[in-house]
Amino acid sequence: MPGSNLKRPDVGDIPRQNPCAQCGAPIPAPEWIEPGRGRISYLWTCRACGYRFEAIAIFDHSADEREPLAA
Ligand SMILES: [Zn+2]
Repeated sequence: MPGSNLKRPDVGDIPRQNPCAQCGAPIPAPEWIEPGRGRISYLWTCRACGYRFEAIAIFDHSADEREPLAA
């Protein structure tokens, strides 16, 4: 296929085209990104119905905070 869209560098694990939790319309990119400890919060705003919701991505690093399974 010719005509690729905008070239974007890899910005990490930012999710795209997330379906709206209410009406199912795809949202191109999160409205707001808030990094935290071992996790990142994404705020999605649907332009179709105006619904806003938050999604949280958790990284493997947070596994260190869990109880170690030692013998
Ligand atoms: Zn929606």
